[in-house]
Amino acid sequence: MNMEKIHVIAIPYPAQGHVIPLLEFAQRLVKHGIKVTFINTEVTHKLVTSTWLEKDDFSDLMQMVSLPDGLERWEDRNDLAKQTEAIFQTMPAKLVELIKTINKEDDSKITCVIADISMGWALHVAENMEIRRASFWPASAVALASLLSFQTLIDDGIMNHDGVPLNDNIFQLSPTMPPIKPANLSWACIGDLATTKIVFQAIVEAAKAVIKTEWILCNSSHHLESETFSHFPQLLSIGPLLASNRLAKQAGHFWPEDSTCLTWLDQQPACSVIYIAFGSFTILDQAQFEELALGLELTNRPFLWVVRPGITKETTVTYPEGYMDRVGSRGRIVSWAPQQKVLSHPSVACFLSHCGWNSTLEGVNNGVPFMCWPYFADQFQNETYICDIWENGLALKKNKGGVITAEQIKSKVNQLLSHTTFKDNALALKEKAVSSIRNGGSSEKNLNNFIQWIKEKENHLSS
Ligand code: UDP
Repeated sequence: MNMEKIHVIAIPYPAQGHVIPLLEFAQRLVKHGIKVTFINTEVTHKLVTSTWLEKDDFSDLMQMVSLPDGLERWEDRNDLAKQTEAIFQTMPAKLVELIKTINKEDDSKITCVIADISMGWALHVAENMEIRRASFWPASAVALASLLSFQTLIDDGIMNHDGVPLNDNIFQLSPTMPPIKPANLSWACIGDLATTKIVFQAIVEAAKAVIKTEWILCNSSHHLESETFSHFPQLLSIGPLLASNRLAKQAGHFWPEDSTCLTWLDQQPACSVIYIAFGSFTILDQAQFEELALGLELTNRPFLWVVRPGITKETTVTYPEGYMDRVGSRGRIVSWAPQQKVLSHPSVACFLSHCGWNSTLEGVNNGVPFMCWPYFADQFQNETYICDIWENGLALKKNKGGVITAEQIKSKVNQLLSHTTFKDNALALKEKAVSSIRNGGSSEKNLNNFIQWIKEKENHLSS
């Protein structure tokens, strides 16, 4: 009897905001009887498997493996230029080897490679090995549309061949799509010019591979970005892909989550708590960190604050003098929260966020209004969605000295929570986002079509 299963590879970029959504997507495939080999880099594999306590959460159809990223263990993986170059030099050959081994030793040969677009080289590998492939994008459709439009942006004089913006003129990819500041293009705000150049070259290579794939899947919803999906019909929405939407736990964390904060939330009044989290990558300088601490104190409201290891450059974080005594039990600080559960908790009033796309979707999906504090990459464009298009949040702005002051934090929180408009807009948006993944919703339909395609065994398994 032929026991061969449909067997796909899923390969995320080695960053928290990329691993979580692709792992969520992979679990949807597993639910449909598809075998998934999920490939992390060795470092992220170790992090993900060490926090993944309940192994039963994953089916036997999910296999987690790792490949080296080409850097020494001690090297700085926040140096995006270095990491990008190392990955390019090392991982393609390792992936070829892995696929050959699987095809020789496993009951089921690899039938499709699903690659995070930031790992676009994996699509080239699959193409050369004549394996079907699909592109997965964990961020907004407009960010992907900008990336795929790189040649137009060069031709229109918006940026040069290295991806460096040439002017400050706000542009749109089509008259109805969101306005974009050239400086906010995701590759243009990730570091110095050398980093932009290296990352941009990787993006160009990825874009060339992506347009040749049959499926370009975005963790977004038609309702959230209708203009972009209309103008770029090759992009397909399959989101929001959130564990909470299938009543499961979020998997793929790099840090152990502190669930005790949920009990603390249970004790707070409904719609009272400010939740503050900056995702996995943001670094604040010490002065800004203290200003934020003071701002939260000034609000006089309960707050749950994620102070992730490495949130400041110092080895230990320092709070303003006497801070903990003054805020007492009104403030709860954790190093990593079960964020999707926090955002769905009735005590949460608003989300002070760095506007990473996953955090943005998670807030939207729970109807929580935002205070926006973007740090880098696509986060400035996500802020534009929140503040100017969806109008479910307010932006925090740096003063002339480059600081977001405690006073501003207090006054913006008050403004956000004293006007019902933001909450009303957030709730209306939630309805739309959730409707896309319900039965018959646009994302659900695209996801089902994709699963159907992947299951067409006869198309990609020889006899
Ligand atoms: N996250 C979490 N607990 C935290 C902070 C973040 O579970 O305390 C999760 C969050 O739910 C999201 C991801 O980490 O799924 C962060 O992704 P995002 O795109 O928002 O930001 P990035 O880390 O890529 O900057």
